[in-house]
Formats: sequence, C-alpha cells, structure tokens
Amino acid sequence: MSVTKAAARFSKAHNTEAEGVWAAPGRVNLIGEHTDYNDGFVLPFALEQSTWVAAGRRDDGVLLVESLQAEEPVRFDVGSLAPGGSGGWARYAAGVVWAMQQAGHEVGGLSLVIDGQVPLGSGLSSSAALECAVGVAVDSLYALGLERAELARLAQKAENDFVGAPTGGMDQMASMLCTQGHALFLDNRTREVEQVPLDAPALGVRLLVIDTKVSHAHETGGYRERREQCEQAAREIGVPMLRDVDLDGLQAALEKVSTEVARRRAKHIVTENARVLDTVAALRRDDLAEVGRLMVASHVSLRDDFEVSSPELDVAVDAAMAAGAVGARMTGGGFGGCAIALVRDTEVDAVGAAVTKAFTAAGYAEPGLLPAAPSQGARREA
Ligand code: ADP
Ligand code: MG
Repeated sequence: MSVTKAAARFSKAHNTEAEGVWAAPGRVNLIGEHTDYNDGFVLPFALEQSTWVAAGRRDDGVLLVESLQAEEPVRFDVGSLAPGGSGGWARYAAGVVWAMQQAGHEVGGLSLVIDGQVPLGSGLSSSAALECAVGVAVDSLYALGLERAELARLAQKAENDFVGAPTGGMDQMASMLCTQGHALFLDNRTREVEQVPLDAPALGVRLLVIDTKVSHAHETGGYRERREQCEQAAREIGVPMLRDVDLDGLQAALEKVSTEVARRRAKHIVTENARVLDTVAALRRDDLAEVGRLMVASHVSLRDDFEVSSPELDVAVDAAMAAGAVGARMTGGGFGGCAIALVRDTEVDAVGAAVTKAFTAAGYAEPGLLPAAPSQGARREA
C-alpha cells in the first residue's frame, strides 16, 4: 500500500513519524473534449490510482520534497518561493504552497514524501494528483480551512503560474471534488459542479482506460491552433465563446464562419457540449447504451471535425467497439494519450485482449490497460 510506503519512507528519512498521509487521484474524462477553453462542459471522474503524500511540519522554514518516483529530494526556502525557478518535478508541490501564500495564507516549513501510482505524463493527470494531495495535506497541517473548490483553484494556479504549464482547471477540480460512484459534471464558465451517478460496479461495467503510450504532445502546436480556430469562429459568429452557441442555432452560426476548417472546429465544440448534457441525462436514467452511443459520436467528431485523434487512438476505439464495448472514444487533448471504453464487467478481459491484438497487428507498442471505476477524490488516508 502506498499509504504505508510513503509513511515508512518519511519516518526513515526524518527520524520521526509523519503527522498524516493524504491522497488525491488521477482522473479521466468520460466526455467533453476541448470544450474547457470554450467555456463549455466536461464530465471527468476520479481514478482509483492516486498520489500519496506523507507530511509533517518543520520549524526551520524549509520545504523538503521527496518522491519515490524521483531521484533526489528537493529543498526550497518556504519564505522565498518564486515562479520560474529550479526544482523540476518538485515545483508541482512547491507551487501549491506558493499559491496559498499568494492568496494570503500563512504556510511554514514542511517535509513531504510523495508516492504516486498515476502513470506520469499519460494524460491521466499525475500532475493534478500531486498538487491536490499536497493541497489537502498543507491545508490540514496549517489549519487553513480552505474549501475544496478553492484548493482546486490554488492547485491550478500552481501549475499555470509556478510550474508554467497553461492547462485548464478540470484536472484539479476532478481530483479535489470527485466522489466515489459519480462522474463530475463541470461547467467551465460558472465553475458549478454536479455529481452525476456512475456507480460502475453496481451497473456491472468498467471504464477501460487504454493508454496508447504515444505521448500527448501539446507542443506540436496542434493545441494552440485549435484554440485559435475556436476563437476565430466565436468572433465571426459574434459570441463571447462557442459555449454561447447551442444546437438549435448551430447551422445559422456556422454560416457566418469564413473558413471550412473553423466551421468544423466550431461544429465539434457545439455538438460536444450537447453530448455532455445528453450523457448526464442518460446517466441519470442508467441508460448506458445511450452513453456508449454518445461516446462514439464524440470520438467521430474529434477525429473528423476537430482532427485531434491519432491512428493509435482510432485503432483502440475501433478494436474495443468490434470486441463488444458499449462505447469508446479518445480522451484528453488527443494526438496520442489515452482512449476510454465503456465495457461490461464480463467483457473487460476480452476487450483488452482485442485492443492489444489490434495494436500488435498494426505494429504499435503494447498499450497500457487500466480498468477503472469512478473513485474518491482527495482525502486524508492516515
Ligand atoms: P500528466 O498530468 O498527464 O501525468 P504532466 O506532464 O501534466 O502529465 O505531469 C507529469 C509531471 O508531474 C511529471 O513529469 C513530474 O514532473 C510530475 N509528477 C507527477 N507525479 C509525480 C510523482 N509521483 N513524483 C514526482 N513527480 C511527479
Ligand atoms: Mg497534467
């Protein structure tokens, strides 16, 4: 167990017991892709795989961060944390303390020992898991009494402004606010959230996460280009954000967009937002067949209109569906990363095997397979 591993390493390294162990999960998005920066809707859920942090206060003003997934402990001076400095991976942790200080909270020295189970850099948000685990630990140890949504905001600020990664807020909101047996509906405009029932074991299904092991490369420029095309479409339609266009107004809106490419981008965003709302409604009546249909429609839209899928993701989705999955789609920003399939419990092994076989036949590296069920968000573990 990672709880005990992190705690054991802590007591060995510091000659004293940790004051507690906290954890926060990775996440995967069921549906609602590229909608976040258009003020739209997303529907992530928390993975069982989490990041643990054994933590204790120190009175020498030092922030000492160690990870079982990294070589060396990293030392910061808690009184002079500043963005853009050195510290590598440990800046995800230090950034959370910095963001708390920026918000006016008093945080002193800390020893943190981290143990993460979320695969790093696969698009399952090991970064948010790390930030959120640190967030709940520091909040508790220094008795800050912060709300979960505020902790999520500070974790996002750490990633955006301290680490310097321009990501949306979904990952941290999911890691902080998700609850077991639910997906989290999140409105990126209002930041309102709703717990939507998705008790996979009770429904007899699993969400099979398929990691293509092809790295999701935002630096290809594809992501920036998509954002610009969405902004162009919104500007030409005359709305603040594509969120402001609904299905009824879609045809008329698209006629105002000057390029064929931007029209397809806008069509994806508007239809995807509608699919998220439809998925929420379908989940509320346990209509998994409809959820599966919406997942496939989302994939087709991302593949053909938004053009962010990859050959590996298409093979994963096609093979999963051919092997009897209820639904499947790419998840995350695209250009590689993970796909997700909604699969009956009894068919998880068969679908996994079929995907692996299809990857081998196509000459791809073996995919990672992670059968998931919506799990608990950030919490104290010990
Ligand atoms: P993702 O969030 O999809 O896993 P990111 O690139 O956003 O990918 O974040 C991964 C980075 O987060 C890693 O490269 C590392 O710097 C940091 N990280 C996450 N978890 C840990 C951990 N357990 N130990 C050390 N660093 C971690
Ligand atoms: Mg990340």
